[in-house]
Amino acid sequence: MIKSVKAIGTDSSANPLHTFNIQRRGLLTDDVEMEILYCGICHSDLHQVKDDFGATTFPVVPGHEIVGRVTAVGSDVTNFKVGDYAAVGCIVDSCGSCPACERDLQQFCENGTTLSFNTPDKHLGGMTYGGFAKTYVCKERYTLKMPDFADMAAAAPLLCAGITVYSPLKHWKAGAGKVVGVLGIGGLGHVAIRIARAMGAHVVVLTTSQAKIEDAQRLGAHEAVLTSDAEQMKKFAGKIDIIIDTVSAKHDINAYLKLLAIDGTVVLVGLPPEPFEVGAFNIVKGRRSFAGSNIGGIDETQEMLEFCAEHNITADIELVDADKVNEAFERLEKGDVKYRFVVDMSTLN
Ligand code: NAP
Ligand code: ZN
Ligand code: ZN
Repeated sequence: MIKSVKAIGTDSSANPLHTFNIQRRGLLTDDVEMEILYCGICHSDLHQVKDDFGATTFPVVPGHEIVGRVTAVGSDVTNFKVGDYAAVGCIVDSCGSCPACERDLQQFCENGTTLSFNTPDKHLGGMTYGGFAKTYVCKERYTLKMPDFADMAAAAPLLCAGITVYSPLKHWKAGAGKVVGVLGIGGLGHVAIRIARAMGAHVVVLTTSQAKIEDAQRLGAHEAVLTSDAEQMKKFAGKIDIIIDTVSAKHDINAYLKLLAIDGTVVLVGLPPEPFEVGAFNIVKGRRSFAGSNIGGIDETQEMLEFCAEHNITADIELVDADKVNEAFERLEKGDVKYRFVVDMSTLN
């Protein structure tokens, strides 16, 4: 039976977020239904609400760092029972059989990935609605198990921020003997510092904020560079193996390509809407790469959650009530958050 549930979203990029009711599908045999407890606010939610990519369908309900408690399961579900903690990240469906899906790369499904919000909803028509809502219904295959985190609200950002940095760090082999630079210390960046450190890498923070230089060591970095200081930047020229670039706005990538060691890689995960200009000599010299990465597959997301639980990694969060979501979005836009907002969905009434 289709259910009507309260959600937070907007019908235009010009309007603030507000509450309205959306529909969730009735439980199918392989579905898990959860009451949402917490949902993180990712900069991608802000990009989508502002329609930065010109690809948002309104009304939009954002939210894709979702932690909840299971309230019902379909008859074929075997891994979840009522009362369990469960989570939903960015991906809620894919074809399951194309070469990408077979490699646990459902984010690159050749037949189209269904994201937790703002992609076509195969069941109800229209677009999917995200985690700024009272409930979510997701296929068991795409629902994550939550390991035993002491603070489930602080674990919510792992569902996007965590996997988005874990996947490239693993792919480009961050670990002992490698120098990892983390560029942009926001929601993704501060989790990247912790994960890269736990993988055994030497971690260098690259930030525009003096206050974050002072916080870098507490977050787990070995060194920190104020990117506006040419002298500090010069010290790291040719020294870094992997830079995870999380910057959400336009920036000069060449300044960071110059920091790479031979065979080093800048991995772009941030999504500035404008295209980049890359100077030829900044990549031909040193056989350097400028690469990109997009979230991570479902099995890898589960692996990341286990890794973070084992290494005691969660996000530094500011938990906000549902009626403070607009304020949180405004502060995120100004960079005024240390380091992730999470909405307490029990306050959405
Ligand atoms: P966030 O919390 O806002 O952090 C972004 C950080 O970038 C800021 O804290 C700031 O760090 C730096 N920054 C922002 N504007 C800047 C500017 N004009 N110049 C230089 N640095 C600037 O955002 P987030 O949630 O971590 O997301 C970061 C980006 O990743 C967004 O574009 C988001 O859409 C994208 N994203 C991509 C994926 C993917 O799969 N590829 C997944 C999730 C998010 P400092 O103060 O340290 O300089
Ligand atoms: Zn995200
Ligand atoms: Zn597929």
